[in-house]
Amino acid sequence: MEALAHFSAVTGLEANLEKSTVYLAGVDEDTKSRIIARTGFSDGAFPMKYLGLPLSPKKWRKIECHTLIDKITQRIKVTYSKQLSYAGRLQKKKVALVAWDKVCWPKRLGGLNIKGCINWNKASVGHLLWQIIVNKEALWVKWVHGIYMKTDSIWNHKPPIDSSWYWRKINALKEEMQSWYNQGRYMLTLNGNYSISKSYLAIIGCKPTWKLAALVWTSMALPKHRFLMWLVVQGRLLTQERKLRLQIQVDDTACCLCAEKVMETNDHLFEKCKWISTVWQAMNHWTEVSMHNIGIMKVLECIDGKHWKLFQKEIMAAICGAIIYHTWRARNWRRYKGKCVQTDEAIAQIKKEIRERLQLLSSSKKAIKCRNFIQHLMCF
Ligand SMILES: [Zn+2]
Repeated sequence: MEALAHFSAVTGLEANLEKSTVYLAGVDEDTKSRIIARTGFSDGAFPMKYLGLPLSPKKWRKIECHTLIDKITQRIKVTYSKQLSYAGRLQKKKVALVAWDKVCWPKRLGGLNIKGCINWNKASVGHLLWQIIVNKEALWVKWVHGIYMKTDSIWNHKPPIDSSWYWRKINALKEEMQSWYNQGRYMLTLNGNYSISKSYLAIIGCKPTWKLAALVWTSMALPKHRFLMWLVVQGRLLTQERKLRLQIQVDDTACCLCAEKVMETNDHLFEKCKWISTVWQAMNHWTEVSMHNIGIMKVLECIDGKHWKLFQKEIMAAICGAIIYHTWRARNWRRYKGKCVQTDEAIAQIKKEIRERLQLLSSSKKAIKCRNFIQHLMCF
């Protein structure tokens, strides 16, 4: 009570007796009633609600967790369903554009850098294991050493059947993590400190770096252009041909941007179609860089192999991204809205978007090295 009085004196906050309860454990009835009489608080009983959640001195039962799960589910439904990305929405409709495993890879490896919960959770559990291995100065580490492991090393330790849930989980995962250690030292970082993201990468399997990632995800391109380019490079856009393959019903399989009456494939739409060829030529004319449209993947490889300044490569990749985006947009407008987007309109829009982007990034270090090319694109 003295502490509470001191707290009130310092902060000006008073405990409201009507709303306050005291929870007592391990005291006899006599002491209990004396404490209650002295404090003036009423006697509280478990389970109580704290911050909207049930609070209990015992382990939660499944049913008690439901409130929490319902709340989280509701929050996800209301707040995030509106913001679900293109990838997420398509996942919802059960048409996976790109395999989930691949979506979870880092961008430099060709993925979208979305963290897969199961593997991220494993990597996080790995942090607990590391704390045990390096015998980190923490009460719980001391406790598991003293009570569970005693003289065992973690690798030889067999958790007792009646040990707690978390201890059995850590032990179940340790074998998978053993290869990250050499003589007790964590080998995935230089300083030996644990890194959840490094472990996560090890769990999903170290794939060779995808060298075109820097061009696909360049900051020079608008985010929506980057994402679409990423899909096209994977050959994962839902063209009419792909829909047929996925056994999705389509009325008309012909390309709607030209009069050739050929199947709308990735190759046709982004390489051979007259519509994109016209836009492509205009871009060649604008940049005064002659690039052949030999398929987006090959074009990017070609850009990557040029002896240009880095930023010029990024600008050229961004132009490719813009061409692809506007081709797909024109296709969608034609197919679903019945509106015809002329190539001139798209060309003007691409130039406008690229110039705005250049203006935004013109003071960056890499842009200064590329001044002449930028000057040309801004004025011509
Ligand atoms: Zn066409």
